[in-house]
Formats: sequence, C-alpha cells, structure tokens
Amino acid sequence: MADPTSSSPPGLLSLDEALQRLLAVGAQCVIRQTEDVPTLQAWGRVLAEDVRSGLDVPPADNSSMDGYAVRLADVPAAGAVLPVSQRIPAGVVGDPLTAGTAARIFTGAQIPPGADAVVMQEQCTSVDPQSVRVDVVPAAGQWIRRRGEDIAAGATVLARGTVLTAQAMGLAASVGRATVQVLRRPRVALFSTGDELAMPGEPLKPGGIYNSNRFTLTGLLQASGCEVKDLGIVPDRLEATRQALRAAAEGVDLILTSGGVSVGEEDHLKPAMRLEGRLDLWQVAMKPGKPLAFGAVRRGDGSEALFVGMPGNPVSSFVTYLLTVAPLLRALQGQPAREPTAYALRADFDWPRPDRRREFLRVRLNGQGGLDLFPNQSSGVLTSTVWADGLVDVPPLQPIARGDMVRFLPLNGLLG
Ligand code: AMP
Ligand code: MG
Repeated sequence: MADPTSSSPPGLLSLDEALQRLLAVGAQCVIRQTEDVPTLQAWGRVLAEDVRSGLDVPPADNSSMDGYAVRLADVPAAGAVLPVSQRIPAGVVGDPLTAGTAARIFTGAQIPPGADAVVMQEQCTSVDPQSVRVDVVPAAGQWIRRRGEDIAAGATVLARGTVLTAQAMGLAASVGRATVQVLRRPRVALFSTGDELAMPGEPLKPGGIYNSNRFTLTGLLQASGCEVKDLGIVPDRLEATRQALRAAAEGVDLILTSGGVSVGEEDHLKPAMRLEGRLDLWQVAMKPGKPLAFGAVRRGDGSEALFVGMPGNPVSSFVTYLLTVAPLLRALQGQPAREPTAYALRADFDWPRPDRRREFLRVRLNGQGGLDLFPNQSSGVLTSTVWADGLVDVPPLQPIARGDMVRFLPLNGLLG
C-alpha cells in the first residue's frame, strides 16, 4: 500500500514495511492443494485451473426477440405479407426457411437456415392465422445473436487465480462446467485471549465483557474464504497460552489471535510464542492498531504454522485484519499483491489533530458525494465499524479540513 509519507515515528514500523514482510513470508507458504467442487458451490473459491470453453456460446445463431424470422429479399418494402411456414420455440431446431415465407420465432430459438433477420412481433401484424404483414424494412442480421459472440470454442473464460464471483460461477456453467478445480481453503485457527472475556449466552461477571472479536474475526475469515478452527477463549496464563498455541498449530496454515500482544504483564503471547515457535513483535505506525505480532508455531512434526497476533481492541483488530491479515490470506491463496481499491473523495468533516501514526478513520459516504466521520473514533467503539462503509487513510500529521480531498478505502474493497 502506498505510504503517503515514508517516515514513521522512531521505533515504529511503517504499515507498508509490515505488509511487505508479511507478504514475503506468505508468498513462501502458498497453498498448493486443490480440490474439485461443484460449480454451484464454488462461490468465493480461488480457481486452480484455467477454465476453457469446449464450445461456442451461444452454440448457434438465435433470436433475441419474439417475432418473425425472414429473408431480407422477401421484405423489400414495409408492408410485405408473408405466409408463416413454421413455428420455432426456444429449444426447437426449425427447418430451412422456405423462400417467400416467415417463421414464427421466439427468444432464444435457433435461427433457421436461410433467414437473415428477425422482425420483432411489435413491428408485425397478424393478417390471419397463416400469414403476417411485416410493417418495417428489417436491417441485415437484426435481433440475431451470433454463434460464439459471447465465447469462441477454445477460449479461456476464467483464468487460474480468479476468485469465483456469482458471475464467474454463471460463466463457468455457461460453458458446461459442472465442477471446477479450486485451491483448498486456507485453514485458520482462531482464539481470543483475556480473562475478562465471556461468551454471549453466558452471564457477565463483574469486570467482564463479551468476546466480540471472536465473532468479528470469524466473519472476516469467512469473507476471506477460510475454514476456521475456533479455539474459543484462552485465559491469561502462560501455560494455557502455550497449550492453546500447540493445539492451534495442528492442521492449520495460520493461527490468528486477538489480545495479549501489548507489553503488559498480563500479555502472555510473547513469552508463549518464544517457547512454542518464534515471534517478531512489531509496533506498526498505524492507528487504530499498533502492536502486531508475527511469527510461527512449531507443529508436532517439526513443520510450522504461521502466526499473527492482533491487538485486543475491537476496532484495532478489525482494521488490522483488513490491512494486514486479509492481504496475507490473499497471498496464501496465490493472489498477487495489490493496492486496495481507493477513491479520492471530499471530506465533509474536520480532523484538526492528526496523529503521528498513519490513521484510518471510520467514515461513511453521504448523499452529497462526500464523507461523514463517525463521531467517536476510539479503538474500542465497535459501533463505528458497523456504521462505516469505509476508512479514510490519513497520512501522519496531516490535518483534514472540510472540503479537502482524502483517500477513501471502501470496506468491501479491502476484503474482496
Ligand atoms: P489487550 O490487547 O489484551 O490488552 O486488550 C485490549 C483491549 O481490548 C482491552 O480493553 C480488552 O478488554 C479488549 N479486548 C481484548 N480481547 C477482546 C475480545 N475478544 N473482544 C472484545 N474486546 C476485547
Ligand atoms: Mg488482554
């Protein structure tokens, strides 16, 4: 991601630098295993093959209107009356069109040999049940969809690496593919640390809060196409954290955690990680966010699962996920690194006291083509993330005055 200023506060890592390091490791852990899935269930999956068409689409010239197929030579002037020699509904192959006649034809029906235009029924008048008057002079080829005009036989319609959207599923089906070969989903273990955390459905003890990150992160991981191995809440104790890491590492590509990566004495991830694998603890020059832990946990067989430890504050972990974990998961799925979708839009708000860190404000598009700011930008205020439809990427120390153009990152562009 383009860092608007290259300098970060001393001791802090720029977001770009953090991302480069993550992606460099991600590129070495690209998932190679593939599986065949029914096209109907392939939404969001990453294609592991080029999908080629074995046929022309459409397979034959066909009508794009309900009307009459004619020979141009038979309609030299408006008002020609022609006998109706056959009726061709969609799915039926007609006979060659007898000269001097018209064929009743319906949308999607194959054009009979000899016909060179279709006249829509609104421009024809039925004279009697056996004949029709053509009230216009048709142009050559009108209302005919040509064989292969969408796809020529042999063409690659979807390239390897494509993330299957609804449209892509339809396109694969249109060339007759009942199954497609896709990468297996990334497997991600998830746990939350914190003795204060309770699960929704449980009573809240004094001093407790509900574990919202588990839900936000599960949804985000699903949006990134992952299979989630949920280990729930892990208490703030070294031994419990070590155990959770060992259990998490088996069978997953990545372990994702929230909380416990600050430098407080209740933050046990750092020592646990050092014992169970290796860890870099980064202070990233971004707000919300900042502490970010990256490393790997040893599995029983000596191999490693990647590890990302995110901050506990709900907005911090949400934004950190979008800007670092989502790109890492794309890299694991073989996707090339890319800039997030960004638009230059007008700020309809003031932001007079910018931070030294690059900041990501929760904003919403208003009906006037500008951006409104959520009034409380605290990293604990999860309401802002539901209200917002995007983030404004504020360079370090750069105030915003109403009317300024700013860099807007839509949330759906960060996830997709
Ligand atoms: P930590 O990073 O563990 O120091 O936590 C920072 C803040 O985030 C604290 O206020 C925590 O209570 C809160 N927090 C940590 N984990 C969660 C979670 N899973 N859900 C909601 N809030 C959390
Ligand atoms: Mg904590």
